[in-house]
This record gives sequence, C-alpha cells and structure tokens, in this order.
Amino acid sequence: MTLLPLPAFDDNYIWMLHDGRQALVVDPGDAQPVLQALQTHGLQLQAILVTHHHADHVGGVNELRELTGARVHGPAGEDMPEPLQRHSEGDTLELLGLRFEVLDVPGHTAGHIAWYCSDPQGAPLLFCGDTLFSGGCGRVFEGTPAQMLASLDKLAALPGHTRVCCAHEYTLGNLRFARAVEPGNTALQRYSQHCEALRAQQRPTLPSTLAVERDINPFLRTREPAVVQAVAPRAQAHDEAGIFAALRLWKNEFR
Ligand SMILES: [Zn+2]
Repeated sequence: MTLLPLPAFDDNYIWMLHDGRQALVVDPGDAQPVLQALQTHGLQLQAILVTHHHADHVGGVNELRELTGARVHGPAGEDMPEPLQRHSEGDTLELLGLRFEVLDVPGHTAGHIAWYCSDPQGAPLLFCGDTLFSGGCGRVFEGTPAQMLASLDKLAALPGHTRVCCAHEYTLGNLRFARAVEPGNTALQRYSQHCEALRAQQRPTLPSTLAVERDINPFLRTREPAVVQAVAPRAQAHDEAGIFAALRLWKNEFR
C-alpha cells in the first residue's frame, strides 16, 4: 500500500492511498493533481473521502466522480457536492481491503469528520483534514473552543505510531509559534530542525505521528504546566477550554 501527498494550490495536500491498481483520495480540492497521479501510476480511482465542506477540500469532487465513477464518502452534517454517502462517528467502511472508521471532530467546521484506518500491515493512518496540523490545529470557524479541544483530545488518544495525514503544509509556521509558547521544549527544537531540513529540500513534513504531535504540538499540550503558564496571562477563563481558546487566539494574532 502506497501513501502519497499530492500537492495542490499553495499549501494543500490531497492524500492518495493505492495498492498499485486501485486508489482512494482524501479531500480533492482540485481534480487535476489526482488525474495526473492516476495516469502516472496507472491507477483506477475507487473512492473519494471528504472531511469537511471547504472549497479547497471538495472543489475537485464532481469532476473526479464524473470522470472516474468513484464513490464519494463525506460527513453526514455538511453541505456537500451530491451524490455522496454520508457518514458519522461509529461508521466503518471497507476500501482497498482496509477498514476505515469515522470520527466526529467538530470545531473547524460544525460537521467535520476524520477518517482513521488501523492498517494491520503497518502504522495506522489518520486523515484529519483541517482539525489537526503538525505543530498546530485548524481555526475554530463553526464550533466552540471546547468542541475543538474535545475533537483534538479524541485524535490525540489514538495510537502513538498513527501517521497523521494533515491537509496543509503549515508545519514551519506552526512550529515557530509553538517555540514562542514553549521555548524550553527540546523535542520541539529537534523536530523544528528536522522539518526545516525537509522543507529546504522541498519535501513534505507530513505525515507526522501522534507520538510526535503529543510531544511538540501546543494544541495537544494545553494541560502542560509550561503551556498553561505561557497562555494564562492572555486567558479570560482559566479552565481547560479557556486556556485552549486563548492559545488559539494567540496563534491567530501571531506573526
Ligand atoms: Zn477547512
């Protein structure tokens, strides 16, 4: 099974998983990079998975469905290009001989879902759209900070060797902010150097792993004393959701 991040737009990745014959893609905001990859590798598109309704995640869905006949699977509660099969937490799906589970992760959008595949042949895969990024998380557009925190907690509880397939290459910017929050985090410093070296060679920093994210991502570390201490002066409320909300707001303003 091969996992490929197909670059799209300025900083999106459309994730492709294939077995040499059949493929699936996640969040095809643009059909072109997918069609190109199908042709290059001689693949048939079996399925399209979608995490949420934003245009840079669904823009290529109709064209790909029409050209390939692939089935589309997306969130139950979002405005989506029809027809598609709608899914919510607890649903499972068999694709390419692998079992995919749906997780509800509201916050970035109200009906955002994530796709988790506990591939028995290797490390599990998590396609988390714009909920979790390496070193960061998505903006809270439609949900509440408490919802987003609960969604990130749910993802962080998956096995540490899970490969985290985020939809954007935001890593270096996120890590710059993370270092401002936790200047004393040595794992974060090491990971930053690693990612800077990858980007200097135009290579993706993704997938990351959940074990790495739990060590370096401030949005998964909002109960760590160092993070609480850094954020507290900016927080209106000092409960978990209040600290998370203040951290997210700080990131929005960070330059
Ligand atoms: Zn989005």
